[in-house]
Amino acid sequence: MLKLLKPGSTIGMLGGGQLGRMAAASALRLGYHCHVYAQSADEPAVEAASDATIGAWDDFAALDRFADAVDVITLEFENVPPEVARHLAARKPLRPGVDALATAQDRIAEKTFLNSIGVETARWARVESSATLEAATQSVGFPAILKVARQGYDGKGQIRISGSQVAETAWTSLGRVPCVLEGIVAFEREISVVLARGQDGVIAAYPAVENRHENGILQETLAPAALPQILAEEAQATAERIALALDFVGVLAVEYFIDGPRLLVNEIAPRPHNSGHWTMDACYVCQFEQQIRAVAGLPLGSTIRHSNAVMTNLIGEAVLEWQTHIADPGAHLHLYGKNEIRPGRKMGHVTRVSPVARPANASR
Ligand code: AMP
Repeated sequence: MLKLLKPGSTIGMLGGGQLGRMAAASALRLGYHCHVYAQSADEPAVEAASDATIGAWDDFAALDRFADAVDVITLEFENVPPEVARHLAARKPLRPGVDALATAQDRIAEKTFLNSIGVETARWARVESSATLEAATQSVGFPAILKVARQGYDGKGQIRISGSQVAETAWTSLGRVPCVLEGIVAFEREISVVLARGQDGVIAAYPAVENRHENGILQETLAPAALPQILAEEAQATAERIALALDFVGVLAVEYFIDGPRLLVNEIAPRPHNSGHWTMDACYVCQFEQQIRAVAGLPLGSTIRHSNAVMTNLIGEAVLEWQTHIADPGAHLHLYGKNEIRPGRKMGHVTRVSPVARPANASR
């Protein structure tokens, strides 16, 4: 049911990471309170939020206190356990909903869903036993990549394998949990599309961007992607088709491999995405404000790009160079307030913008 949240209402945010921190800032700007559910008080979103409940994902008393304190619930962490999502959705509107979340948080469900609506992925097969692992290696071939079905992120929980003799060892080292085996795609580029879908079904998509990864972690996003127009449009149209099929409300990111003339979906994320951070400094309305608008039942804002952008993640010790970035007058520095620097940890990002001649490549 379409429900417009008036300013002064409280948006509940599941997860306390940097995505929640940036969304909380957008919520505040629109006159909402943001109440974060975090695992610990030193998580980045807590200091940006008006209020926080600190609790584990299995602390249902804390989850109930959180639900009682908010008007609508959204998330910045996609691996909210399904029973928690169902529990909360029975108490307050949860956007995106339980089904969209269940699809996006399990690679088997995700790929099954994508293929069922005619969206191409890398060749893949499910792995749930030694017998299915053997069958998967036969059908997918090598080289391949074995990924845990649930909970993997930033390249964690995945192993590249070159032949069937190492498949069993690789699966054991991943804990013999349900996995997918995927063929390695010799992609030319990786791109993504971030879009928002409102409660009224209106979709606002940002232009496709190019993403460069190192060791499975996003390093740099170039906006817009230098792509043939036909591929850029196909990427947007496919992302919109996915959002529609999921009856999605909120912000959705779709990551693709470009393999010759084909676009293959790698994965989807049911939340604002690292590859959408550039929109904070280069678009009329950014992905975080779109998330707040969508879950609050407001009209979506314009995704028009007023600048071109290069977004660079500050990972681990790269954050120590913050003084160099802040001394660059054209650079927008964003730091996440994390106290401890760890290798591979996203500590902040910096976006360098340059003007475009006229707004281009935007759907609204
Ligand atoms: P993921 O966690 O699935 O997003 O994977 C992280 C990164 O690993 C991707 O952005 C790619 O750079 C790389 N990768 C994942 N799956 C494949 C694949 N099937 N073929 C080639 N590279 C892959």
